[in-house]
Amino acid sequence: MESLKELYKVGPGPSSSHTIAPWKAAMLFRDAFPDAVSYDAELYGSLSLTGKGHYTDQIIMQTFAPKMCKVYFRLSWEHLYENGLIYKAYDERNNLIGLWTVFSLGGGSIKVLETDFDFQRTIYPYLDYESVAKDCKSLHLSLPALIKFYEPDLEPHLEKILDAMLKTVKRGLDRTGLLPGLLEINRIAKSLYLQAENQDSETSKNRLKILSYAYANNEENASGGMVVTAPTCGSSGVMASLMYHYYYDLGYSKQKLIQSLMVGGMFGNIVKMNATISGAVGGCQAEIGTACSMAAAATAYLHDLNLKQIEYAAEIAMEHHLGLTCDPVGGYVIIPCIERNGAAALRAIDAAFMAEHLGSIKDNRVSFDMVVRTMNYTGKKIVLELRETALGGLATELRIDHK
Ligand code: SF4
Repeated sequence: MESLKELYKVGPGPSSSHTIAPWKAAMLFRDAFPDAVSYDAELYGSLSLTGKGHYTDQIIMQTFAPKMCKVYFRLSWEHLYENGLIYKAYDERNNLIGLWTVFSLGGGSIKVLETDFDFQRTIYPYLDYESVAKDCKSLHLSLPALIKFYEPDLEPHLEKILDAMLKTVKRGLDRTGLLPGLLEINRIAKSLYLQAENQDSETSKNRLKILSYAYANNEENASGGMVVTAPTCGSSGVMASLMYHYYYDLGYSKQKLIQSLMVGGMFGNIVKMNATISGAVGGCQAEIGTACSMAAAATAYLHDLNLKQIEYAAEIAMEHHLGLTCDPVGGYVIIPCIERNGAAALRAIDAAFMAEHLGSIKDNRVSFDMVVRTMNYTGKKIVLELRETALGGLATELRIDHK
């Protein structure tokens, strides 16, 4: 299992697969061929089908600027990974001097066919949650203590991640106006927050505040702002909204929140290793389902639940997202994505609540590892039209013409 640093990354939205991955690869390619005078980018798979709405072409051209980069949207792609792109570098006589085939693995992670960057280096000797929990029990370690054992330099990284999450939500709460794109949708995070402040009951106030934080984060994401992949950009508001709530509204320490990021991250990594966190591969269950599992586990940890109850919370969160499809309207990460982050943030709290109470009176028959395998199986059964291609579902009910 790879580093949690490879899971939590700060980068430009709206989509980790469609903006962070091409952006990261473009910077590396540009540095590998600094003498090139122009570049081409060919997009394939979901990168081609929803690249316009996800601003893939714009982020690539901006990264290569002031040098010229032409972006082509292609369809035939014969590699094992479904989502990918090819970068080409040319000299002043237009001779090809460099070519990389880049796979976008989900969550902004990349693999380059021609160069081994070792991004996916193994850090943890675990294959599933069962083996993680077994070591925690036999070594008498909490989940954060076990994680720190294998990644002693992780805390400073997570401190930056937590600060970036808090900043994104704050920025989103301060902004009003239209989101970019042809959907002409207004930002509403600030109005939601004001509504929350006027609630009489504490429960309604807290739930509406969490909703406003998720909207704030994902309205920033939809505008191409900097967000934290948790595990992806499209689903980044689930963890970020809860971190903001527990820090500003409930007064939890940054130290405790960083530990909860470790706990949530371990569950995200288990999904990443055994299934997928990419909407283009497994549908939205892979993104929002995983984000909800991570947030439910983090919430359970913040409420001092035990190892079994933490697993139960993560399992409930994933189980009840199974089969969730990805059909972004117009290819924008706006409908259904923004609302979905709010729904999943509230669901994560409910999952932790259920795990606490159900877990004290019955054993959970479904383990987290089982539900991850099921999510992977279900993702393979989801048709291509409903895996981030904008070719079906809500994307065809509310059709947007980009021409
Ligand atoms: S529907 Fe879900 S998976 Fe698809 S782009 Fe939106 S958040 Fe990501």
